[in-house]
Amino acid sequence: MMLNQGLEYSTAYLLLGGNLGDRVANLEKAIELLNDKIGKVIAVSSLYETAAWGKTDQPAFLNQAVALQTNLSALAVLDLALSIEQELGRVRKDKWGERLIDIDIILFGDQIINIPDRLQVPHPHMKHRKFVMEPLAEIAPQVLHPVLGETMLSICRNISDPLEVKKL
Ligand code: AMP
Repeated sequence: MMLNQGLEYSTAYLLLGGNLGDRVANLEKAIELLNDKIGKVIAVSSLYETAAWGKTDQPAFLNQAVALQTNLSALAVLDLALSIEQELGRVRKDKWGERLIDIDIILFGDQIINIPDRLQVPHPHMKHRKFVMEPLAEIAPQVLHPVLGETMLSICRNISDPLEVKKL
């Protein structure tokens, strides 16, 4: 029997985004806190700028994908990510409203998680959104979507999202 409980690491892919304040500094702070609290950050994408999704009368978003290695559960990662959002002073006004920093779990190893109203992984909207798939395909082109069985690169190339995403 292998006594490696607690030593098994998952690679989690997170998407960070923000459209308020010093967006670059907020992303940098978030990555530092992720590395301190959740697990070693092993890859970070370029910055991508996108017009706000679902609501157009607000500043453009900056998005960045991050890969990290963690021995925590996906739920523990979600709770810590929410606490990092709060620590960085998120202003939650409405569903698609402005925020200093938003952290979504996109993939968590090859786990498929569906806890209604709490956590869905892979992130259910990823495959429709360029602002998720472009940064993700940059750092994880050959990683497979555990439900679709398709690589990130392939999903990204087939997206018809009309919102323009600009790599900075
Ligand atoms: P949002 O407004 O997009 O930041 O939504 C945050 C809420 O979505 C959190 O409180 C989570 O409980 C829930 N949620 C469901 N699935 C995910 C996921 N894959 N990553 C992050 N939050 C999620």
